[in-house]
Amino acid sequence: MDNTLLLAFTEPDGSLAKPALEALGAALDLGAPLTTGLIGAEIAPAMRQIAGCPAVRWLGISGEEFGQSRYVTDVAAAEAVARASGATIIITAANSRANRVLPGVALRLGGAIDTHATAIGEGPAVSRWYYRQRMEARLARTGRPWFILLEPGCHAAWSGDAGEVAIERVAVDLPPLRTTVTGVRTPASGEETIRPDAALLFVAGAGWTKKQADGQSHPEQAAGLILDFLHKSRASLGGSKSLVDLSGEGQAVLPFMTHLNQIGQTGASPRHPKGLATCCHGEEPHVVGWRFITERRAVNLDANCGWARGKADVLYVADAFAVMRKVNELLPF
Ligand SMILES: Cc1cc2nc3c(=O)[nH]c(=O)nc-3n(C[C@H](O)[C@H](O)[C@H](O)COP(=O)(O)OP(=O)(O)OC[C@H]3O[C@@H](n4cnc5c(N)ncnc54)[C@H](O)[C@@H]3O)c2cc1C
Repeated sequence: MDNTLLLAFTEPDGSLAKPALEALGAALDLGAPLTTGLIGAEIAPAMRQIAGCPAVRWLGISGEEFGQSRYVTDVAAAEAVARASGATIIITAANSRANRVLPGVALRLGGAIDTHATAIGEGPAVSRWYYRQRMEARLARTGRPWFILLEPGCHAAWSGDAGEVAIERVAVDLPPLRTTVTGVRTPASGEETIRPDAALLFVAGAGWTKKQADGQSHPEQAAGLILDFLHKSRASLGGSKSLVDLSGEGQAVLPFMTHLNQIGQTGASPRHPKGLATCCHGEEPHVVGWRFITERRAVNLDANCGWARGKADVLYVADAFAVMRKVNELLPF
């Protein structure tokens, strides 16, 4: 019989973020005895946060040196917690910190690892998409310990009562630290437009920058309409490759759009419940990134665009400038 470890890194305030609570929910669904193992500068608030879950052990490593993502400290801490738990299945939310270190931990323990899991089912078995979300596979393994990195947004987050638990502190031997994390640098996009928790994904395509019926292009108008909509709707912003490539070349197009916004085969595959594509042709390499969007709508002048061929639930054959102007008028604030 397997026993499970929920391994998680805490946030700067010592809490657990939603993806970690989703991983906890998935770990509990396995029905095996569960140990929790938390790592971070502070872990007590996170332990209180999940005290209501039916874990049998509460392992933890805390201290300043575990507050930041740094390979040498993260890998040592995760290895120590995994060994102390004796777990055969170790489930972690697939954030950048865990994605970076857990393959190394699996190697140190002589175990196996599956990344980008989208579900953990009976068997146990994991579901995982291949070839840029075109094929789904279910995998079971006999090798143990088996590390599973669960993608965010794929399982309901655990919720329950807060409380107090007795934390078992795990000792960890750190080698001399040579790396100091001085900060994080991200592409300057002017403002935060990627919102994984938003109810809607709004996608802008290159059509926003193309010549319109009057023979002119209107990028400033496009930028105003899109930003106004994002502010009012709190939607997340995605882009087609053509549009983000234009922005990346420094053209005065949509200054808030970066490659991080790109949806598709060579971009992201977000998981919003609804999506609205505007001025985007709906070609296969783009639409494959919509695999996990439940309800899809598009606005395009071309009744014969890619969306019309079974890729959207609803296609509005209309001018996106006019549609979004009207939508913005109707939205409150
Ligand atoms: C290996 C490979 C990988 C790729 N990966 C990706 C990827 O990850 N993501 C991605 O997006 N693409 C990717 N592509 C590119 C993809 O094939 C398309 O070229 C791209 O998605 C086209 O972007 P678009 O639809 O915004 O632009 P266009 O094809 O130029 O379409 C613009 C659309 O805007 C419409 N339009 C213009 N004005 C208006 C208006 N006023 N109102 C409404 N509609 C209007 C036009 O009718 C047109 O359909 C990849 C291609 C290859 C070969």
